[in-house]
Amino acid sequence: MNFNIVTVSGDGIGPDIIAEAKNILNVIGKKYNHTFHFTEKPAGGIAIDTCGCPLPEDTIEACKKADSVLLGAVGGPKWDHLGGNDRPEKALLGLRGSLELFANLRPAVLHKQLKEACPLKPEIIGDSLDILIVRELTGGIYFGKRGRTEGGAYDTMAYSEKEIERVLRVGYGAAMKRRKKVTVVDKANILETSRLWREVANRVAKDFPEVETSFLYVDNCSMQLIRDPRQFDVIVTENMFGDILSDEASMLTGSIGMLASASLGETKRGMYEPIHGSAPDIAGKDVANPIATVLSAAMMLRYSFDLEEEARAVENAVTKTLDDGYRTADIWSEGMKKVGTKEMGRLIAERI
Ligand code: NAD
Repeated sequence: MNFNIVTVSGDGIGPDIIAEAKNILNVIGKKYNHTFHFTEKPAGGIAIDTCGCPLPEDTIEACKKADSVLLGAVGGPKWDHLGGNDRPEKALLGLRGSLELFANLRPAVLHKQLKEACPLKPEIIGDSLDILIVRELTGGIYFGKRGRTEGGAYDTMAYSEKEIERVLRVGYGAAMKRRKKVTVVDKANILETSRLWREVANRVAKDFPEVETSFLYVDNCSMQLIRDPRQFDVIVTENMFGDILSDEASMLTGSIGMLASASLGETKRGMYEPIHGSAPDIAGKDVANPIATVLSAAMMLRYSFDLEEEARAVENAVTKTLDDGYRTADIWSEGMKKVGTKEMGRLIAERI
């Protein structure tokens, strides 16, 4: 099959890590007989420098036409003096909005080889950890009516049934490709929007009889993530709760250089990116960990292209590389073999 991918390498370590993810996709293409066509487009700081704005129209149009988008990271000290709409980070919100991406998928995966990086006790974490948080991205309190009153202020949390249903369907769809458990997280003892989330979830659940559904209040969920994280498979939740819980869950995995993410909408086209930033302190030094980006590319294979076997091949190659003792500086520990960005990419490719 043929796939058109727009790469938005962005700033800092962006170009270093995207180069490795592209190599890996090409190796997958060769092995499984697919062709990936890549087109690079500017966004972020580099777009400010070359086109005068963080998200050129041409980049948006190219992303809209693509089968999927792979993004590195944007931002850096060079553009820190800029304010509000002129900042490189504006490109991310702009792309998510233009592509109508309403579901953010953030896996929190702790590889057993990196268990020591997890701040929890070994008996709690067991052998490994694999949770997927699906966060609603375009509704809720971050987008509701807000304002000031005399001596006060207010924010509004609002959701339509349609907004809730479409993100729940993404969550259930993902659960079908995993361990078939969905936990819907809300505050239904207090919030009316949460009660609506439960109603819609009970309805959607009927279309996925193989999936086990449970409900949890957000305060309890934040506690359970620390007490017994292995009870979770897929967590689906609204925007603000998801923002907070996904950061909490990512801490369980130790390294920021390992965590992938996907933003999905109504169509198969998604935007895939590591959760870390542009790490300007290590840009261009061949030390950045490319694994988060490589695993984001694996998510693209799974969720946008329905290439499950190919996605697993990438994930297994990452696991094997870690098993064989190779580490970039950020996840290195005594007795392990320290490698750079390019070498890590080559070792993973070799194992595919
Ligand atoms: P950061 O994630 O870039 O870096 C935090 C720390 O983690 C740094 O010490 C960095 O060296 C390290 N790190 C990050 N990714 C790594 C990797 N792949 N391998 C090894 N080490 C890695 O966060 P920050 O320093 O707060 O932000 C730097 C810039 O990135 C800022 O301009 C910020 O606005 C931007 N940012 C962009 C995104 C994005 O594009 N999605 C996300 C967060 C921050």
